[in-house]
Amino acid sequence: MTHAGEKTDLLGLPREPLAAWFEARGEKPFRARQLIKWIHARGVTDFSQMTDLSKALRGRLAAEAELRFPRLVGGQVSADGTRKWALRVDADNVVETVFIPEERRGTLCISSQVGCALDCTFCATARQGFNRNLTASEIVAQVWLARNALSEAGLPREAITNVVLMGMGEPLLNFRNVVAALRLLMDDDAYGFGKRRVTLSTAGVVPAMDRLREALDVSLAVSLHAPDDALRDRLVPLNRKYPIAELMAACRRFLEGKHRKHSITFEYVMLDGINDSESHARRLARLLAGLPSKVNLIPFNPFPGTRYRRSPDPVVARFAGVLQDKGILTITRRTRGGDIAAACGQLAGHVRDRARRAQHFVRIEEACHVQTL
Ligand code: SAH
Repeated sequence: MTHAGEKTDLLGLPREPLAAWFEARGEKPFRARQLIKWIHARGVTDFSQMTDLSKALRGRLAAEAELRFPRLVGGQVSADGTRKWALRVDADNVVETVFIPEERRGTLCISSQVGCALDCTFCATARQGFNRNLTASEIVAQVWLARNALSEAGLPREAITNVVLMGMGEPLLNFRNVVAALRLLMDDDAYGFGKRRVTLSTAGVVPAMDRLREALDVSLAVSLHAPDDALRDRLVPLNRKYPIAELMAACRRFLEGKHRKHSITFEYVMLDGINDSESHARRLARLLAGLPSKVNLIPFNPFPGTRYRRSPDPVVARFAGVLQDKGILTITRRTRGGDIAAACGQLAGHVRDRARRAQHFVRIEEACHVQTL
């Protein structure tokens, strides 16, 4: 709700709500498409420069609307070309966004929450605690600002070919804002990312996976990390609420759902001596048997204070070999941006944790409840 005198932030509004905003002001709904093109496809944020809108409408936009960007407070470039930006989203909080260039593609890894409430024991973001959900505007702004920064650095506007929701936060515990942001990212008049180029990664919020299946045609990655409940309970505490059997059932429903999928990607962080034995690999293969899946092995990225160590390369290779022998497509993720703490699980930003630890699980319960309504 906007208060009297307060401008509406239009940055994160997808086409339909934006069209409704115009209609409520007696304007034609196709103004939404025009505005979306200016802001997201052309990168123009000054309403006065939007020359296919009447002068009167431009004036009205300037008076009633705004595009509320987080402030870029830091940019770092890794020796391997990976870039990380820090974005101040409010007085207390900074989130991070990472660009990972590869030979034929460039992946932007974006955040969905300020901190994270899930408390996975091997993840740096968990250490920060949780403050709040990012708005759709703050999620989309990460793509806008990254693209802008890349073009200022001389890269083409198309440098970002893929977007992954693998930064800070659990996207499915911020369902509404994440879905709104993804709709905009996938809108042909905005960024036009195709369904294979947008990947949402979840630790396994089962009811929200079912909702996502109906809402949006995106690729799904599931952070599995263990082949049995006893171990997964320890690594991913959310498993106590949605154990592996329920998670796998949700994955099967996702594959067969409204938007049929070729496969789901399972992420598996390789922790030395914890989840990386051949026996773990065999059990993982059994778990995934019959499920169209890919496995992404992520060598653990350490951060200050962690008690885990990365599995040695030969152990990772042996683990991958067991899965491949069972016919499972397995890719070991190369660590990128480790020197600037931009690798998986290293994003921390600055989060003012408003919730005490004990409240986190309550929040999750509340959020999951909301998801099922
Ligand atoms: N909350 C979502 C998305 C964010 S994390 C999820 O859990 O999927 C993106 C991926 O990085 C997840 O698979 C996560 O488990 C993994 N990850 C977290 N910490 C890591 C670390 N220290 N080293 C390697 N991967 C890590």
